[in-house]
Amino acid sequence: MSKSKRPNILFIMSDDHAAHALSCYGSRVNKTPNLDRIANEGIRFDNCFCTNSICEPSRAAILTGTYNHINGVTTIGAHLDNSLPNIAKELKAVGYQTAIFGKWHLGQGLEHWPTGFEEWNILQGQGPYFNPEMVRNGEKIQYEGYSTDIITDLTIEYLKNRDPEKPFFINCHHKAPHRSWEPDEKHKHMYEDETLPLPVTLFDNYENRSNAAREAKMRITTDMTYFDLKLVPPEGESGGAKIPYPDSLDGFSLTPSESGKAVTFGSHEELVEFKYQRYIKDYLRCIASVDDNVGRLLDELEAEGVLDDTVVIYTSDQGFFLGDHGWFDKRFMYEESLRMPFIVRYPKEIKAGSVCEDIMTNVDIPATFADWAGVETADYLQGYSFRPLLSGKAPEGWQESMYYRYWMHLSHHYVSAHYGIRTKDFKLIYYYGEAMGQPNTVDESKQPEWELFDLRNDPHEMKNVYNDPGYRDTVSALKKELHALQAKVGDKPVEEID
Ligand code: CA
Repeated sequence: MSKSKRPNILFIMSDDHAAHALSCYGSRVNKTPNLDRIANEGIRFDNCFCTNSICEPSRAAILTGTYNHINGVTTIGAHLDNSLPNIAKELKAVGYQTAIFGKWHLGQGLEHWPTGFEEWNILQGQGPYFNPEMVRNGEKIQYEGYSTDIITDLTIEYLKNRDPEKPFFINCHHKAPHRSWEPDEKHKHMYEDETLPLPVTLFDNYENRSNAAREAKMRITTDMTYFDLKLVPPEGESGGAKIPYPDSLDGFSLTPSESGKAVTFGSHEELVEFKYQRYIKDYLRCIASVDDNVGRLLDELEAEGVLDDTVVIYTSDQGFFLGDHGWFDKRFMYEESLRMPFIVRYPKEIKAGSVCEDIMTNVDIPATFADWAGVETADYLQGYSFRPLLSGKAPEGWQESMYYRYWMHLSHHYVSAHYGIRTKDFKLIYYYGEAMGQPNTVDESKQPEWELFDLRNDPHEMKNVYNDPGYRDTVSALKKELHALQAKVGDKPVEEID
């Protein structure tokens, strides 16, 4: 492809937006018309997975094109060494205008700020929903307003003022819909008079599963805080609660609407449902704003006359539990957290309404950017360009499994460190249960344990069949493939290999 015909790339990424909260992925709880437009006029990837379901590591994998044991960002707090090669540097070197706006979350200061971007204007750390102080090319600037709008405004301003003679690589990365799910004025009353459908595994009792699942502290029942619920969590598992609702708390911008309202619960289930509705509605309100703002970006590309010359991608750094298994948050290799929404619009290479079921991962994303941009020298990238999948046919030998590793042992939500392999039909997980000296972990050993899920018969992963004699051969074949994958990406097993 000649350099003049290389596409622009607009890479929109949100934070913690699960695929099952987009209507193009069949959401039961919300509608996302602008995001759906990308899928309807482009392609939807149904098996796009993250290689480590947590914010900072996934972002590092996407930027550097390497697994976390290679790029060093194994956990939140491990921070990216910005002298490493990355995809922005590659695209800049071959003539792209490179920019990033919004969430960065790979560390702060001279050793961690964005490199490879001609223009950057980022939130600090997680960043707030309202009135963020951002850092533009090293200089702090205070903004007024809602983060999702501001980040979109900055992206649009850059689009308007770019050099039209050069292709662009623009990253528009939202804070939303990350915890603590604070909606803006426009959307805060959405769903107010509705009761949203409950996830089918909301009342999961973790029978037939690992201790890791049972012990994790991310339950809607017991682990939601004041900030999550925007009210003092009702005590106990049932019973009445009088709910005070202060106007604001340092660092948070709560939007009180139920001051002093008394709530009583007749049963444990009622309490869980109450908390679930509080949580999911705020989460979806934040997404509604992301969806509106994606619409604004598409309109702007159209107005600039470059919509069809631009690869528009929408994704999120990982999935999220939307009450599934009774949880919020992510981290586990289970489906809702492992799967990333991934939709692409680029009519020059994609037939409208395409769906791809082949396996691809976050590590494959920069390899694909390199492919579009004609970068030929980035041998360090560990992923594979999924560009051939856009036309609906996987090339011979395309990956049929993926490798996952969660390193952040017991931090934040008490999830045991684990790794595993997912194929089209099965998932094998090994909870090795050790901190292994990684940053931001808890140095407490857990009894190692395995899980195997037969995704054909058990798509919700409710029954671990690892010890079922009928799956002995499957276990043995998957272990072999797991170790082969580890060897291929340069990681190594923790468990004794028999
Ligand atoms: Ca995230």
